[in-house]
Amino acid sequence: MKTTKKLVMIGNGMAGVRAIEHLIKLAPDSYEITIFGAEPHPNYNRIMLSTVLAGGSSMDEIIINDLQWYEDNRIRLYTGEPVVKIDSANRKVISRSGIEAEYDKVIIATGSKAFILPIPGADKEGVIGFRDIADCETMMDASKTYRKAAVIGGGLLGLEAARGLLNLGMDVTVIHINGHLMDRQLDEPSGRMLQRELEAQGMKFLLKKQTLEITGKKRAQGLKFADGTSLEADLVVMAVGIRPNVEVAGASGIDVNRGIVVSDWMETNVPDVYAVGECVEHRGIGYGLVAPLYEQGAVLAKRLAGIETDGYTGSVTSTKLKVSGVDVFSAGEFKDSPDSRSLKIQDEVGGVYKKLVIRDNKLAGAVLFGDTADGASLFSLIKSGESIAGREKELLLGIPSELMGQSKGAKFESMPDDEIVCGCNGVSKAAIGEAITAKGCTSVADIKACTKASASCGGCKPLVEGLLHFYAGDAATESKEGICGCTSLSREEVIDEIKRMRLMTVKEVMNVLEWRESEGCSKCRPALNYYLGMLWPEEYVDEKESRITNERYHANIQKDGTYSVVPRIYGGVTSPADLKKIATVAEKYNVPLVKFTGGQRIDLLGVKKEDLPGMWEDLDMPSGHAYGKTLRTVKTCVGNTFCRFGTQDAMGMGIKLEKAFERLNTPAKVKLAVSGCPRNCAEATIKDFGVVAIDGGWELHVGGNGGIHVRATDLLCTVKTDDEVIEWASAYLQYYRENARWNERTSNWIERVGLDSVKEALAKKEDREALVERIEKTLSLTTDPWKEIIENRELRKNFEPLADVQTVKQ
Ligand SMILES: Cc1cc2nc3c(=O)[nH]c(=O)nc-3n(C[C@H](O)[C@H](O)[C@H](O)COP(=O)(O)OP(=O)(O)OC[C@H]3O[C@@H](n4cnc5c(N)ncnc54)[C@H](O)[C@@H]3O)c2cc1C
Ligand code: SF4
Repeated sequence: MKTTKKLVMIGNGMAGVRAIEHLIKLAPDSYEITIFGAEPHPNYNRIMLSTVLAGGSSMDEIIINDLQWYEDNRIRLYTGEPVVKIDSANRKVISRSGIEAEYDKVIIATGSKAFILPIPGADKEGVIGFRDIADCETMMDASKTYRKAAVIGGGLLGLEAARGLLNLGMDVTVIHINGHLMDRQLDEPSGRMLQRELEAQGMKFLLKKQTLEITGKKRAQGLKFADGTSLEADLVVMAVGIRPNVEVAGASGIDVNRGIVVSDWMETNVPDVYAVGECVEHRGIGYGLVAPLYEQGAVLAKRLAGIETDGYTGSVTSTKLKVSGVDVFSAGEFKDSPDSRSLKIQDEVGGVYKKLVIRDNKLAGAVLFGDTADGASLFSLIKSGESIAGREKELLLGIPSELMGQSKGAKFESMPDDEIVCGCNGVSKAAIGEAITAKGCTSVADIKACTKASASCGGCKPLVEGLLHFYAGDAATESKEGICGCTSLSREEVIDEIKRMRLMTVKEVMNVLEWRESEGCSKCRPALNYYLGMLWPEEYVDEKESRITNERYHANIQKDGTYSVVPRIYGGVTSPADLKKIATVAEKYNVPLVKFTGGQRIDLLGVKKEDLPGMWEDLDMPSGHAYGKTLRTVKTCVGNTFCRFGTQDAMGMGIKLEKAFERLNTPAKVKLAVSGCPRNCAEATIKDFGVVAIDGGWELHVGGNGGIHVRATDLLCTVKTDDEVIEWASAYLQYYRENARWNERTSNWIERVGLDSVKEALAKKEDREALVERIEKTLSLTTDPWKEIIENRELRKNFEPLADVQTVKQ
């Protein structure tokens, strides 16, 4: 009889969850799995935090396994719930809030934490590491108020943090203790070239500086260095290294050196307790990159599935800097030594540097700056340890193999099948070959979706492309941008097919359009839900389960797992009666923080999920939709009602607009503002749709954004009457709804399609009227979500804590 054992994992991060994914494939239903995570999020791609900080991805986009995945695989997930101890005598783990989970096997996958220099002032406000979503959010928030950032540490992480902060508009100085940047991956010439390139991007550097103290009262104000100099800084990011999280292991009698000591099969010294990832020390080495950790995870999964392996024997690693406009690759040895030879080229004009370190005719290491196309191939040679005698110059210069007497095909032919091509995701040549020959992939995007190769840092893309041509020959096609990895169809193609075949549900779209992942992913499910709702406003039934958490609970989830409640206050104009009501509710539910938002609303923060329906009922006000991809707020100034400069009734117009468009589903959030004169006190020119009063009429502005990438609006047109404002706003918003990609703010959309194309689409009165008709139809079908939940017992149940999963936060 098959018995199900209990597996508990401590840590909900990249290495651990990857091992669980393997295990589920190898031995489905063999374990009843429980995961405890200290962070309030499902598993996400930590690598991509640099990209999020730099504005290249949103937090939603970096989720690897959304909550649905845990549910589908019957994994009980406790988020925001750190484990404090493993009681191996009684075979259970105990969390900080006292939850106990019994185990037959337990995995410790607690990763690392950022090392914070133990110097005076390191505990001040504004001093952080760069490790998780919370750090990223702190940096993004700080950039809204403060200007001067100091990043201590000129390694990979420090430079990626610095680039992100530059993108956020901060004045950034990187402080590094050694004489050149990335001195653990680069030699001096390449480190110097990198510095020049980053200086050209606006980054400042202080090298050979030892930070002694962080000055300031409560918040950091500056740094003092050992040479007596100092620097002003109101945000200090420490990127000086990581320390394995070993507290749980230490408190549970498990052998710990720097990391948790494990065997080749990821076993600790305590029976049935395993460890994997950055928290681990294997043969004296701790790894800080995902590729080796995924290798460890694969070995562990096989161990737990009862499959024999030779165990994990260690890894050679390669690194790539994820800073746009700068290509840096380093693998293996990069310094000269008495027993090695090196070949170099340095082109200061073209900004290219290449170095190969060779020992006993084998490639021991490589450094590439400016041209990293050969990085993945060189890394393969380092790992294979094959002789490169006679090919050294070819490898250095990147001369096409065919010119050196070897065909491109021969290069891929000779590559071993089990050679890892994508280090980040552990994808071998054989897996890519199979995706092309057996599963029909014909583009890099297809291969990425099928195998995850090139899905993280992207460094292996040239090699994946080479393999595609090697296996697929003429059938290889150029990649086009699919809406996500589950399909190679673009947004436009998906929409055309939905219309053509009158597809009506998310599931139907996925089935008919042959989605690669039958359940889709966190990117395409909400996108399809939006497109279907936009195309079929009357027929389509919104799929709540396809929406992101905030939209499912009609409140914004906060970092501690609580929610925030923002009632609708039209145009930012309230009354003593409503204020009293809000105050009574805040007191009744012990709301820890009541705050005015930037959009002139009142935010009740720190609310428990189970209290939400009760609060909404007591408030008896409509939802302010502060959580959704919809109209958020219409900000107004007092206009001519009270202001002596005002030429129009800004408040009246704001209230009219907010009442017209509240509850409207849009591709991304939409913010409006109305100013009563060109002094523009309501900041209408950084809104998605901004209205500014002028003598005898209104200016209508579009495509503004006051967020990460600040963008001033473009003037769409000038109109005379209030009715014309509503007509143009309706037509513009509907055109945006019908043409933008899901999750694309108007600022990005206008940049992509061009203002002229929008003006042209709205120029004719009859076209505007048709758009107005469609938006009015949609608006007439919307209802207030809070009211709906208050009145519907079944919906209300979703907010009640289940006895079984009482403490699971989502
Ligand atoms: C900004 C940034 C950029 C990076 N870029 C790259 C890159 O380009 N390439 C690359 O290969 N690697 C990169 N890395 C490193 C990579 O992210 C890590 O190697 C990887 O995430 C480690 O996986 P892990 O599962 O061991 O740890 P983690 O992903 O850190 O997961 C561990 C989890 O355990 C949780 N935890 C800790 N203690 C407890 C407890 N007591 N109870 C419950 N949960 C607990 C933590 O909160 C965390 O969520 C980057 C890292 C950062 C921060
Ligand atoms: S924008 Fe003009 S009308 Fe409105 S408050 Fe400012 S000055 Fe007064």
